[in-house]
Amino acid sequence: MTIVPNSIEARDIAYQLHPNVNLRKYEKTGGLVIESGDGIYVTDTSGKRYIEGMAGLWSVALGFGEKRLAEVAKAQMEKLPYYHTFSYKTHGPSIDLAEMLIKMAPVPMSKVHFTSSGSEANDLACKMVWYRSNALGLKDKKKIIGRVKGYHGVTIASASITGLPRNHESFDLPLDRMIHTSCPSYVHFGLEGESETEFTARILKDLEDLILKEGPETIAAFWGEPVMGAGGVLTPPAGYWEGVQEILNKYDILLVADEVICGFGRTGKMFACETFNIKPDVLVVSKQISSSYMPLSAIIVNDRFYQPIADESNRIGVFGHGFTASGHPVATAVGLENLKIIQERDLVGNAARLEEKFLGGLAKLAEHPLAHSSRGVGLIGALEMKPWEGAAAGDAAAALSAACEEEGLICRNVAEALCFCPPLIITAEQIDDMFACVARALDKVA
Ligand code: PLP
Repeated sequence: MTIVPNSIEARDIAYQLHPNVNLRKYEKTGGLVIESGDGIYVTDTSGKRYIEGMAGLWSVALGFGEKRLAEVAKAQMEKLPYYHTFSYKTHGPSIDLAEMLIKMAPVPMSKVHFTSSGSEANDLACKMVWYRSNALGLKDKKKIIGRVKGYHGVTIASASITGLPRNHESFDLPLDRMIHTSCPSYVHFGLEGESETEFTARILKDLEDLILKEGPETIAAFWGEPVMGAGGVLTPPAGYWEGVQEILNKYDILLVADEVICGFGRTGKMFACETFNIKPDVLVVSKQISSSYMPLSAIIVNDRFYQPIADESNRIGVFGHGFTASGHPVATAVGLENLKIIQERDLVGNAARLEEKFLGGLAKLAEHPLAHSSRGVGLIGALEMKPWEGAAAGDAAAALSAACEEEGLICRNVAEALCFCPPLIITAEQIDDMFACVARALDKVA
């Protein structure tokens, strides 16, 4: 793309430092400037329309033009644009949404604490895990187990639990207390001749071996996304989550389920914990909680997690944590309305009903000579490409992603996978349109 002086692209290059790009490359190429959105589509400044096959960043469940959310935000801004939840003060929207989350949680939960991003929520959950261990007099029980290819955000603790080198390198991370166990992706880490069952047993043994090596009394919590998203949509093999929970229970280790991507319908159930029979102590949610119309996230904790923390705050005199925007009234009002719409329109059911079509479409694309395989659950999936001979790892998926963009589809390449996570409002016909773009793009790069 030629950058015209003083154009919006040129001003973007001049003034913004962007996340998740090669900054030197960005100085030359700039980015695609999106101007408006409607349904599953977004439009750039030249008027070109794209299917947003990633729902933004795995998050815009209701699509890009939900008027009810705009109206609720306006009404709340006019009534009470800001208030906090500190120092014995509170307000209606945060109370209403907390109640709704407790009532809809997949397992009995006790309390909700609001934050504004997935990273903040994971960071807070981590701090609370440490606070709780101290409350219980377990001063050595502080280590946290994340997984290779897991993603939990970019703040210091969240990035440390994340198992992706790009989020560690040159940031002096991970922190020493964060350790990582094997990734449960059979496609990527299964050995030659190893069955999926044997793979699962090996990965579970890795986890138990790590716990025993470190000392179970030093391990406080295990962190996991039910389906790994940013690692490349990595679905767990059968029996994996049951096995993990058996090991954690044996050694009294807390389970934190990071449902920042999966929560609120993505896997065809309200929570992926229901899809995979996971019983977490802490549930971390964000993204689809407000369809990302407002920054909002939360941790939802059970009683065995909450009680020691309440005792410790009583001993100290205060729970010394909180953000200016914790439970922000506009964000929580929008979140509440968003979840009501997800329920009223049965968008969780939509994801469940369209799963077969969505995964079937991906499987069909995987028959292309350039493709290796496909995977997914509900309305989240990936097409794994065959690596190109002589090319750098990831080049095939990057080329396909660029070709999709030319064809009018935004999706995301992660290593050799092309990821799809469309808005939950997508229809069967729109899934056909989305995959028709991919089919044309595959032929283009072939
Ligand atoms: N956890 C998971 C599973 C995520 O996918 C993400 C973001 O993609 C995060 C946490 C971090 O959320 P945020 O970008 O809002 O900080």
